[in-house]
Amino acid sequence: MIASTIDPTLPFIDLHRHLEGSIRPGTVLDLARQHNVPLPADDLEGLHPYLVATLPQPGLMAFIAKIDLRITVLANLDACYRIAYEAVEDAAREGIDYLELRLSPAYMARPHQLNPADVVAAVADGTRAGARDFALRVNLIGILSRTYGLDACRQEFEALVEHAEVITALDLAGDEAAWPADLFTDHFQRARDLGWHITAHAGEAAGPESVWLALRNLGAERIGHGLRAREDPALVDYLVEQRIGLEVSLTSNVQISAVSDYVHHPLKNYVDRGVLVALNTDDPAVSNIDLSHEYTHAAQAAGLSPAQIHQIQRNALEMAFLTPEEKAQLLHK
Ligand SMILES: [Zn+2]
Repeated sequence: MIASTIDPTLPFIDLHRHLEGSIRPGTVLDLARQHNVPLPADDLEGLHPYLVATLPQPGLMAFIAKIDLRITVLANLDACYRIAYEAVEDAAREGIDYLELRLSPAYMARPHQLNPADVVAAVADGTRAGARDFALRVNLIGILSRTYGLDACRQEFEALVEHAEVITALDLAGDEAAWPADLFTDHFQRARDLGWHITAHAGEAAGPESVWLALRNLGAERIGHGLRAREDPALVDYLVEQRIGLEVSLTSNVQISAVSDYVHHPLKNYVDRGVLVALNTDDPAVSNIDLSHEYTHAAQAAGLSPAQIHQIQRNALEMAFLTPEEKAQLLHK
């Protein structure tokens, strides 16, 4: 059900959604039982505090711990296929018209030593089947999870390259403070050579210098979050001039304590200054939200007018990793 603040004549788009943060709690429980994976509780009610971030977390890594638990149930490739298929189904039921779903294949593969390249293929198959069954357009973004270091990222990159044809863009995620973007310059150069688009998490758990690194060293066309870009006025001017899109996720930012509450989120300031920003869910199952929640409750709490919320819908279309023809199709669906 889409609330009235969303313009129904414009496409409803989520550009920043993690597959691993979209796994249904019921599926976590089901797969755990099927594969004898130990969990901290054996029913949904007991699991809730381990899987869902309802209160501000002490930081990004505490939030990620909830995702770490979810992926322990990915015991085989069928499980990877299933969560991809269900993520597309859930997005379609939210009324989303176009989804960019991102995955970190080596991260998903880690608990049960799956082959990361096979994980990419299984997720691509599940996504394709879901897109067909639920009539939703989906593109996949591959992530390098820097938390696990340079060797792991190199293997992760090679797994994505093995299935380059199903990947639309490359992203850098994980522990931003410990692993600056310039360590990954070579991978992103190769990704651009492959024709992939580039986005990167930056300015979420580190300052504006991290956003500059993502732009200058990785060639990022969009930035995940970019919260702390506001600390550098020259950077904000650059984002406006270059039409660099910020993928903002209000509830996720509050939950990881990157901002104290919706009112103090820089989103409205960015919109007022003409920065290209879109609203996204990030990890909807962990945050226990959907995209409508972000566009209605969260955006209004952050002080956006209905006209600004409609502008954000148009921004998301402009920022989408689609051709002009594909964007035109979405607009005239
Ligand atoms: Zn993210």
